[in-house]
Amino acid sequence: MKITIIGTGYVGLVSGACFAELGHDVLCVDKDEAKIEMLQKGRIPFYEPFLPELVKSNYLEGRLRFSVSIKEGVEHGKVIFVAVDTPSKSSGDADLSSVENVARQIASHLKEYRLIVEKSTVPVQTGEWLMNCIKEYASPGVEFDVASNPEFLREGSAVDDFMKPDRVVIGVTGERAASLLVSLYESLNAPLLITDIKSAELIKHTANAYLAMKISFINSVANICDIVGADVSRVAVGIGLDKRIGMEFLKPGVGYGGSCFPKDVAAFINISESLGYDFEILKAVQNVNKKQHGLIARKLSEKLPSLKGATAAVLGLSFKPNTDDLRNAPSLTVIEQLLESGMKVRAYDPVSLKKSQELLANPEVELCENAYDACNNVDAIVIMTEWKEFAHLDYAKILKSMKNNVMIDGRNLCDPRRMKKMGFDYTGIGRN
Ligand code: NAD
Repeated sequence: MKITIIGTGYVGLVSGACFAELGHDVLCVDKDEAKIEMLQKGRIPFYEPFLPELVKSNYLEGRLRFSVSIKEGVEHGKVIFVAVDTPSKSSGDADLSSVENVARQIASHLKEYRLIVEKSTVPVQTGEWLMNCIKEYASPGVEFDVASNPEFLREGSAVDDFMKPDRVVIGVTGERAASLLVSLYESLNAPLLITDIKSAELIKHTANAYLAMKISFINSVANICDIVGADVSRVAVGIGLDKRIGMEFLKPGVGYGGSCFPKDVAAFINISESLGYDFEILKAVQNVNKKQHGLIARKLSEKLPSLKGATAAVLGLSFKPNTDDLRNAPSLTVIEQLLESGMKVRAYDPVSLKKSQELLANPEVELCENAYDACNNVDAIVIMTEWKEFAHLDYAKILKSMKNNVMIDGRNLCDPRRMKKMGFDYTGIGRN
């Protein structure tokens, strides 16, 4: 089937490449000319495992093309996915200006039936608004449908997540839209949930909010463990073995970040409020997470006589491993707090160093080429992202090169006993 994807970012490009791999004829559109030019030259604008190979092979086989023209996109795809960014406004509301901009442009080029699909994460009732918006700007009588098909892929394992989804959610108002979307996905053999548009929109916000809640919950338990000297990793196993709870998302740390959870939790709180419902649990989830970001500075100040003038090596900048995404990365908040306390920072990340240059442009921050260089002559090591390579560093060698022996493991990546035996003054999250 001919498909257009508007917005060629993490979600749009992965979806486009995967749909092409499934045999569809895909045109990816983006307003960012530099990005499209880069893709046309065979380069990928961000780090995502297995994506370059997929884009390259489908591009060469002619199933995946790129363009800056929404007009061309509307002419090409019978199904048009809108996968543009929906960031937070300062109020916490979802900023739907990119969606609105695209909707107006699609409408102005509509000549025959098209199915316009929300792939971006949007608050409940956006589908209705989108329908009215397109109606307003389209020529009278032209046929179209709107559907919701939220995306659940995770950066770092996005290709695999798209190809082997736990479920595909399809929110529609009628049979025609449903059968188009079902036929697009049927070769995946994934569980399909067909529902109305509002429920589909709510499924996405609810899923992210629930996962964020699990993280804030286990982080709260970790803080209790720290107070009483219990081990949160054992507590997590103890409850996770209960099938009603499950093991996933029970890893304590410095709090969630990234391009989705913070903005989606905020948007869900705000849309609920505007509907007259006070979503109190989610407000607590948000507050707990904010406080958790302050844990590193608090733990460091317990360990070092003074933070002023001391140096920390920050290992890991991306908000999670296997991605170079720095949007709302907790590392950035933590580094800001360390700098405010008068510390100097030496930072290293396996893939996001280049992207971090502008964000961390500060004379007190040095970006280092590798973890050993970052840890050289520092007072403390702070692990911010659980990149695999950080679990396998030669920590004995690192310790010898340090000025002081403090290690704050913000992701519980290292074995506390091994680190302490080696001579580190080691602190994890909730396992002391
Ligand atoms: P992104 O910022 O990486 O990509 C968005 C793209 O849309 C950009 O390339 C931008 O140039 C383009 N764009 C914006 N306005 C445009 C316009 N008028 N015309 C053409 N292109 C335009 O964002 P993303 O991370 O891919 O997220 C996209 C949506 O998917 C968001 O709503 C997000 O919440 C949701 N989502 C993201 C993830 C994730 O892991 N990143 C997972 C699931 C859902």
